[in-house]
Amino acid sequence: MDFELPSSIRAKLAELDAFIETDIKPLERENMQFFDHRREHARTDWERDGIPREEWNDLIAEMERRADRAGHLRYGLPVECGGQAASNLAIAAIREHLAAKGLGLHNDLQDESSIVGNYPIVPILAAYGTPEQKEYIEGIITRRSHLAFALTEPDHGSDATWLETTARREGDDWIINGVKRFNSQVYRAKANLVFARTSGQAGDARGITAFIVPMATPGVKILFNHWTFNMPSDHPEVGLENVRVPDRAILHREGEGLMVAQRFVHENRIRQAAASVGAARYCIAQAAQYAKARKVFGEPLAAKQGIQFPLVELHAECEMLRHFLFRTAWQMDRRDPIEISDQVAICNFRANRLACEAADRAMQIHGGMGYTRALPFEHIYRHHRRYRITEGSEEIQLRRVAQYLFGFGQKGQA
Ligand SMILES: Cc1cc2nc3c(=O)[nH]c(=O)nc-3n(C[C@H](O)[C@H](O)[C@H](O)COP(=O)(O)OP(=O)(O)OC[C@H]3O[C@@H](n4cnc5c(N)ncnc54)[C@H](O)[C@@H]3O)c2cc1C
Repeated sequence: MDFELPSSIRAKLAELDAFIETDIKPLERENMQFFDHRREHARTDWERDGIPREEWNDLIAEMERRADRAGHLRYGLPVECGGQAASNLAIAAIREHLAAKGLGLHNDLQDESSIVGNYPIVPILAAYGTPEQKEYIEGIITRRSHLAFALTEPDHGSDATWLETTARREGDDWIINGVKRFNSQVYRAKANLVFARTSGQAGDARGITAFIVPMATPGVKILFNHWTFNMPSDHPEVGLENVRVPDRAILHREGEGLMVAQRFVHENRIRQAAASVGAARYCIAQAAQYAKARKVFGEPLAAKQGIQFPLVELHAECEMLRHFLFRTAWQMDRRDPIEISDQVAICNFRANRLACEAADRAMQIHGGMGYTRALPFEHIYRHHRRYRITEGSEEIQLRRVAQYLFGFGQKGQA
């Protein structure tokens, strides 16, 4: 058994560190209003319902262009998308490493943009898309024609198989009706991947179909934007009223859209977990460093066991999780990841919880300054708090583990 990360991955991490210093940090320094205490204000277009400002989107796009030129952006993508098909282990190690460096343009929490791109929808298009549908791939990577993901509805989130959006056949076309909620990044999307019931009953996994619906299609309407804990926000409510699409809009197969959705969230769960472990590691290290420097009652804060012990508990959890995370990612490279979705779920809920606890503890140890926007902990907390709800909430991850532990349901089910 070898518990070291392979030398190729360690070399990639070093390469990324050097790239950040030479190509990304200078750009970040020129645009500090997006990263210092003004960040939320600078990024948010308050007049346009709280969506990201154009300048902020442009800066992220420039970061991605530089990363693409340097050969990093597509590192995790399939070879046919210009990528290097990096392993799950490599991507987990990178996500953890980049988050552990703290906040910055290299790995921002907005849209989960990063010098090593996060595009859970791209492998799905590559695997199941028709040649016409695959044209979205380049548009997603370059931000020219984004494809959003529309599964959740006002009355159904965790119980997605109960969704009420319908699509009925009319000649060679389909007519879609329904409402989608938290339809992330739809403001900048060219099309939306809409999940609708085409057959079966509420609760059936089969009978849900995924349609690629251009945003310009008559009947598609952004109703309003949800303002979230972390701003800006691009998580609108989207109405679909008698939206007509051709049969070729179906991604994969009629009635088998849930599998597409599962693959999407599965791609994301281990990455979220890796980012959360890295964020926790960062918060713990920052808090320990501050506790050594800050003097209270004539001695360093770090001398107090009341300060040490909670941080030690977090550190212990972080160390164990980090190893379990890498082992799980390593296993995902060796077998069908769906077979070990209980382990992915364990990584996900424990890591996301840990990131929130570590950010909260770092805030506490930094005292009043921890509560200010001059320090990053409030931002880290607000972002990672989201991960405890999205991509399958904490309870849905627990439910998944329970299915394995108690033998409920079938392995591999949603
Ligand atoms: C910022 C943000 C971005 C998002 N982006 C997208 C997106 O791009 N596309 C998309 O389709 N969706 C998106 N979502 C939606 C997200 O996936 C859902 O919010 C999530 O799945 C939970 O669904 P819900 O909000 O309807 O909560 P509900 O399903 O109503 O759950 C409410 C609470 O009950 C708990 N619960 C549910 N079932 C059980 C159970 N069996 N046992 C115990 N507890 C249970 C849940 O964990 C939760 O705590 C986003 C959400 C947010 C906040």
